Amino acid sequence: MSETSFNLTSTLREPTELAARGLASVGDLPDLEKVAARYAVAVTPEMAALIDPDDPDDPIARQFIPSVEELVREPGENPDPIGDHAYSPVSGIVHRYPDRVLFKLVHVCAVYCRFCFRREMVGPGKGSALSQGAYDNALAYIRAHSEIWEVILTGGDPLMLSPRRLAEIMADLAGIDHVRIIRIHTRIPVVDPARISREMIAALKVKGATTWVALHVNHAREFTGNARAACADMIDAGIPMVSQSVLLRGVNDNIAALEALMRAFVECRIKPYYLHHGDLAPGTSHLRTTLEHGQELMRSLRGRVSGLCQPEYVLDIPGGHGKSPVGPNYLSYEDSFSQQREQPAETRYRIVDYCGDVHLYPPQP
Ligand code: SF4
Repeated sequence: MSETSFNLTSTLREPTELAARGLASVGDLPDLEKVAARYAVAVTPEMAALIDPDDPDDPIARQFIPSVEELVREPGENPDPIGDHAYSPVSGIVHRYPDRVLFKLVHVCAVYCRFCFRREMVGPGKGSALSQGAYDNALAYIRAHSEIWEVILTGGDPLMLSPRRLAEIMADLAGIDHVRIIRIHTRIPVVDPARISREMIAALKVKGATTWVALHVNHAREFTGNARAACADMIDAGIPMVSQSVLLRGVNDNIAALEALMRAFVECRIKPYYLHHGDLAPGTSHLRTTLEHGQELMRSLRGRVSGLCQPEYVLDIPGGHGKSPVGPNYLSYEDSFSQQREQPAETRYRIVDYCGDVHLYPPQP
């Protein structure tokens, strides 16, 4: 625990502030200033207090403290790695799948994650919120498309809005007959749990639509007592929660860390939903793993924890082609059958169990 962070009351935003508190090296400051000039920096008191400045591999620091490695740009990295722009019919809306849209209300967050796939679009100076005109246009688009069943508030972090403004937006959306689900993607309950006030929870509940909250957490240590209490308050108020995490090198890419994270979600009544493979955002190669390693971790996870703790391992295909599951495959054709697929009567499969042992299905007589 950092002695210097005990009394921290405000968010750290400058490399010099990080260095003064022992969270960044003074020698790295010139390079960190270059990183900060391009990608926003913010570490809330809650997260700063979790960082051990004596641990060069601290998993919380890796998520929030800028690194000189962010100046490295790898081939294939892209400012819009999952292709939001190609599917944005009006400002603030991404309509990639028929029955749902992303609604990007704000461009600011309480923390700025070093791996963020929207890192070129979020932060101070990237526009703080949609203008009223853009908001009205986005709402008109949703109203005009009756196939939109679900609206996903994302950004930026939508819970950066005031409860008053959020309540207005929720009411506007719930007032559209075909919008039945409003899903909010946020990191606030863990990185700034004090924002989850009674007023905020009241703003999230709305007549005419069901609210879901998808909580972004990558390491079990992020579940502080305050974070757990904030989640419990939302769930007790009747708001169901699911998880989303990013598989990150040096943060959660070992089975003990991943298992602890998934168990923590379930203990908090949050159903593990997505484990994202790291996107090709600029300057993030030091935080990405390989797909093979992700698959190996998912195999191990299945052998160690209950089905409740299993997220879906997904990759957002660059270019805007959407998410695909990329977890391990447990089913294949038995060898003799694979040469005779035209004869269904002989269908036989190979199925891998949770220990890695292979079985034939149906079993051989
Ligand atoms: S909170 Fe979400 S949108 Fe904001 S920086 Fe982190 S990953 Fe990006």
